Amino acid sequence: AHLDRVAAVDGDVRAFLHVDGETVLAQARKVDERRAAGEELGPLAGVPIAHKDVFTTTDMPTTAGSRILEGWRPPYDATITARLRKAGLVILGKTNMDEFAMGSSTENSAYHPTHNPWDLSRIPGGSSGGSSAAVAAYEAPLATGTDTGGSIRQPAAVTGIVGAKPTYGGSTRYGIIAFASSLDTPGPFARNVLDAALLHEAFSGHDPMDSTSIDKPVPPVVEAARRADVAGLRVGVVKEFAGDGYQPGVTARFNEAVELLESLGAKVVEVSCPNFSYALPAYYLIAPSECSSNLARFDAMRFGLRVGDDGGRSAEEVMALTRAEGFGPEVKRRIMLGTYALSSGYYDAYYGKAQQVRTLIARDFDAAFGQVDVLVSPTTPTTAFPIGERADDPMAMYLADLCTIPANLAGNAAISVPCGLADEDGLPVGLQIMAPVLGDDRVYRVGAAVER
Ligand code: GLN
Repeated sequence: AHLDRVAAVDGDVRAFLHVDGETVLAQARKVDERRAAGEELGPLAGVPIAHKDVFTTTDMPTTAGSRILEGWRPPYDATITARLRKAGLVILGKTNMDEFAMGSSTENSAYHPTHNPWDLSRIPGGSSGGSSAAVAAYEAPLATGTDTGGSIRQPAAVTGIVGAKPTYGGSTRYGIIAFASSLDTPGPFARNVLDAALLHEAFSGHDPMDSTSIDKPVPPVVEAARRADVAGLRVGVVKEFAGDGYQPGVTARFNEAVELLESLGAKVVEVSCPNFSYALPAYYLIAPSECSSNLARFDAMRFGLRVGDDGGRSAEEVMALTRAEGFGPEVKRRIMLGTYALSSGYYDAYYGKAQQVRTLIARDFDAAFGQVDVLVSPTTPTTAFPIGERADDPMAMYLADLCTIPANLAGNAAISVPCGLADEDGLPVGLQIMAPVLGDDRVYRVGAAVER
């Protein structure tokens, strides 16, 4: 049924980079055989899932939305891919994304843009916009994404679905193509909070292959999503995430969500996190710095594209030609920014300063969570914008992640749940709920109580 749905709508939505029906049906038959042989499979056995094209998959290409990896077949599965196969989920295909997860609209894909199923002239968010569009368009019931600065929560918000960023280190990065290693966090997309929690639980747990993976019990997210009550919980409204620059329809739906929380018995207070205003500039130094280092591995020798290797050129010339042709403009911009921020003489002023700001933001969270159990804000300042509107204005594009970036810098758990449609354009609005590190169960508990 999902393959039929993909065939019917993906020509318009363009959520997928790769779908191969035979591989899908072969996987499904295998799940049936395992079940018939009496194997104990998890609650999601047989459910189709779409993976963002940064999750390595041995039976499908993995491109990270880049020309430099066009046609690359990974030799191994990401831990999350492998765990979900073992649990009996069926991989439907690989979803479109901004190249190397750099972007907020999926327009930076080297292949094609993806369209928002609510309005095909608009962006589905990014960088995991193929996954959000696939779930919103009923092409897939579940999908994975990665959230480095908002790339799960922001696309979930603008397509009217649920997307969670687990605690950093709570979901393993092994086998996921790296963007900024201290921020990258794989997580789930679904059409409701309980489904997202089931997926979260299915892929979580300590992974010795990722040195930053947390070796502690997985927070009880499914139980929390089932519980879905907020009575007596203390909810903090982030004062800095309101006012100018927020679309009126976003503010209206957010205020209603806060009233709903109060009517369900939560105690709502305003909380100030003064350093959150510096999160965006700090992120745009730290993330490019880490990417400039991570993307050095695309050297024309080890994987993918190789340009100009005709016998007459040095290895260095081949590398330069390959990287010039294989990387798109946003990736090049980030590599240049990051290389500059890390260079001797500038390191302390830029990268070092940004890391200090990061510590201040983590302290703001600590202070806030001394007073409240969860923090809430709109997920994004606006609803989905038209394709092309911000494509030539990186600063305008970067603003899409204003509210989501603090949780990445501090490693906190966060979720975006639908909270209604904006009056002016009828497009979905997302409510962001943030909890302390390893407080993932709280975001599911509150999210399930207020999702619409
Ligand atoms: N939009 C942000 C960026 O371009 C965040 C991306 C992400 O979370 N992968 O870096």
